[in-house]
Amino acid sequence: MKCPVCGDDCVKDAHEIIGMIPAVFARCKDCRMKILDKNSPPPPDSFHEPCRCGRRFIDEVFAHLYALLVREGIFSGNEVLREAGSPLLHPGYPFITPPFLPGDSLVLLSRYPDQRVAQMMVDEIPEIRGVVRSGDFIPGVADPGLETPPRSYELLAGCDVRANVFPTKTGPVVIYQQQSTIHIEFPRVHNPKINSVEERIARLRPEWFVDTCCGAGTLGITGARMGVPHVILNDTWYAAAFWAAYNTKVNREFFRVDEVKIHAEYRSLAEYPVGREPVLIAETVGDQEIRVYQGDLHKLHQVIPKVPVLAVIDFFDKSDKVTSGAVIRDWMGQVNGEAFIP
Ligand SMILES: [Zn+2]
Ligand SMILES: [Zn+2]
Repeated sequence: MKCPVCGDDCVKDAHEIIGMIPAVFARCKDCRMKILDKNSPPPPDSFHEPCRCGRRFIDEVFAHLYALLVREGIFSGNEVLREAGSPLLHPGYPFITPPFLPGDSLVLLSRYPDQRVAQMMVDEIPEIRGVVRSGDFIPGVADPGLETPPRSYELLAGCDVRANVFPTKTGPVVIYQQQSTIHIEFPRVHNPKINSVEERIARLRPEWFVDTCCGAGTLGITGARMGVPHVILNDTWYAAAFWAAYNTKVNREFFRVDEVKIHAEYRSLAEYPVGREPVLIAETVGDQEIRVYQGDLHKLHQVIPKVPVLAVIDFFDKSDKVTSGAVIRDWMGQVNGEAFIP
């Protein structure tokens, strides 16, 4: 599948990504492994060329990034190693041992590089896939009242599309996203949100399952993989709705569908970043019905039939009990069935 950000072949079908792990980040017998202290500057000569297997230990890749930041005058050499930035690996999954990185496997999130230095990182350091300038906010999170619109980080160079693999009881699901536009979720062995969705679906066996604030689609796609006959995913943020649609296609081999039709393009959706009335972004053809909408969750009831549905409402900020209580009450007033916060 063509990558909507860079036009290359970053996006693969689910089984191809699942088939890569865990070998993709495993060392060969010749790989060097020297753990560096993240809370001090790296010693001189702390990185080498990648091993002949094409991989390099993650700390060496960071020492290389650090050296480039010093060479270009962004770092003085007194900064600690962890200041270089945060690593987001492609594909991400629950790591047990520290990873050895093959080419094009790391999206760097950092506050420091400008566009010029970011391009040098992509050109000179083979493991770097993309460089994103982060800020002191969380990208792609909408407040339920839509008063503060979501914001994005900035992709400086390369491509920041990457996949996470989430284990579920029915098997793994592959969730792609563009890292600068959607908040970061790390796959863990024990994922309480996925567990709570699995538990409800197993107990209630719903005909309809609605993931109302779906983000890149993890919970909705988990429900669809469990075989719920009708699944609706929705998000007000264009990037979330788009990637939920793309991920429905990426995981289509797990559904009883013949085809996934995507009705929108990433770039044109970006012109209407915050949805109000529900707009259909994608739908399946086949025995299992999956639909993806971009819209305000308060208006989603317009496209839901008057039958019992199980709805998951996954707010980013669950600590705000007053708002979440009001949203649940509003939802229950419009839609039949049960709603829960995962
Ligand atoms: Zn790409
Ligand atoms: Zn090696």
